[in-house]
Amino acid sequence: MDYHIHTKASPDAKGNMEEHVRKAKERNISEIGFSEHILVSPISGYPWASPDFMPAYVQNFLAFKESSNLPIKLGVEVDFVPSDAQKIEDFVQRHPFDYVIGAVHFIGGWGVDYRSQMHEYLKRDILQVYEEYFSLVRKMCKSQLFDILAHPDLIKIFGFKPNCDFSDILIETVETMAESNICAEINTAGLRRPCSEIYPNEEFLKIMYSYDVPIVFGSDAHEPDDVGRNFEEAINLAKKVGYTQTCVFNDRKRKFVET
Ligand SMILES: [Zn+2]
Ligand SMILES: [Zn+2]
Repeated sequence: MDYHIHTKASPDAKGNMEEHVRKAKERNISEIGFSEHILVSPISGYPWASPDFMPAYVQNFLAFKESSNLPIKLGVEVDFVPSDAQKIEDFVQRHPFDYVIGAVHFIGGWGVDYRSQMHEYLKRDILQVYEEYFSLVRKMCKSQLFDILAHPDLIKIFGFKPNCDFSDILIETVETMAESNICAEINTAGLRRPCSEIYPNEEFLKIMYSYDVPIVFGSDAHEPDDVGRNFEEAINLAKKVGYTQTCVFNDRKRKFVET
């Protein structure tokens, strides 16, 4: 299944639900979930993925689901900003989501995956950037507001990595993920970015497997042609590390299925 798909309802994506379903069928994906991007409070200088469109969107989704001959799920990708935890909880409870993906895209007011803000990596100490990013990821897991952690090592997107061993940061993060019972996303979008790696990479995923952290797959499609893209590689990575099961979600309940 592909649980991370944006339609044109997200500010930077293209295509409608029908087009995404058509592509999923072509690629033999058995189930998809739509996960539009939401920021509960605006961050200055960035396009605001306001939650205001959600009531009408959900109505539209439910009508579409009735007529769809592919199982489709209602997900969402919510930005985690610690000071917005209460607002996120209120937003999530207002809608009948099958699953809620939590994502860290911002360190303070800096959008770490925005190409226009890439120069910021050159100004900062990369180890400290990684520490801050993963500390936010851990806070996000501990908040218990989310079912799935999006693109777990997004911070490598432009290829900046500390030039020292930082496996202790990854281990501490996975310990928190396991304690928080959150599922990790294997996200193939990293293959389409300068880092040229799946999120998470093999080292990180191995640690997750050793702590029994469950997984789902996501393409982070921003147009129909990205649905299910590079999934063979993602499945091979999961199998190589030892995974034999993935998860499906219904009404925010998790169920394991064989891969
Ligand atoms: Zn994201
Ligand atoms: Zn996304």
